[in-house]
Amino acid sequence: MLKYQETPVQEILDPVLDKAELRLLIKREDLNHRLVPGNKWWKLKYNLAEAIRTNKKTLLTYGGAYSNHIAATSAAAAEIGLSSVGIIRGEETHPCNPVLAFARKHGMELYYISRAAYRKKSLSAPFLKNFGDFYFMPEGGSNLLAVKGVKEFASSLQMDYDYLCCAIGTGGTFSGLIEGVSDNKKLIGFPVLKGGEFLIDEIKKKLSDTRSHSTNWKLMFDYHYGGYAKKSPELTNFITHFTAEHQVPLEFIYTGKMMIGIYDLIKKGFFKHGSTILAIHTGGVSIR
Ligand SMILES: *Cc1c(COP(=O)(O)O)cnc(C)c1O
Repeated sequence: MLKYQETPVQEILDPVLDKAELRLLIKREDLNHRLVPGNKWWKLKYNLAEAIRTNKKTLLTYGGAYSNHIAATSAAAAEIGLSSVGIIRGEETHPCNPVLAFARKHGMELYYISRAAYRKKSLSAPFLKNFGDFYFMPEGGSNLLAVKGVKEFASSLQMDYDYLCCAIGTGGTFSGLIEGVSDNKKLIGFPVLKGGEFLIDEIKKKLSDTRSHSTNWKLMFDYHYGGYAKKSPELTNFITHFTAEHQVPLEFIYTGKMMIGIYDLIKKGFFKHGSTILAIHTGGVSIR
């Protein structure tokens, strides 16, 4: 098993919150593991257990060239003594970016496929045979075992809160949060890509029967800043100030967009006075 470091809950003190009569807590899940941080730890937990249970020696998965899932999978495999293969969307670049350099350093074998082939996930059987009897995880690692891991995390949250906030890529993490919290909590998700409306169905598909009709969650589509990994001076400024003021590192792909979204919603009076917002820090900082 991967080692797990207990993580603190950090309260943010800010006149903006006092004025709105709100409390903002951050669950610093980014600190749970140095190399497999944040939501990736929980998404991998039961997948790793399943790989070991079924005697696989290799983890194989897909991702974009900046995928935290690829990086986390490489380090997790190395820690538990498995080998790993990453199928990367797009052309190989020289030198490779820091995320892929991290994956290589942790022993991951990287293969590049064209965007068209990636969309079809059409790797030929002979090609895949090269890797022997591997354990497969989909893009972003968002399968049902990932949802199960995040569900466990969510149900372990003991503090009082009214709103639970999280950044969304594939929606696997958010599905797990919906599964793990009681119906009286409200969940707010912040998709980081443009045109993320399809995520509503993606999330519903991953929910169990008991949660499939839950109405206590909502996605906020206005905080993608142009799309995945796109940024604006406004977002960059916000991150710089927030990090300096509160000693919480944020990055511009996920957690920065969630936090600027939370602050904007506070200003717009979205959250009910007197309530507590719990934001999940999903990680993403340390390998960049
Ligand atoms: C991967 C990642 C996410 C998105 O998780 P999904 O389960 O794909 O929605 C959010 N935040 C960080 C920091 C991540 O690395």
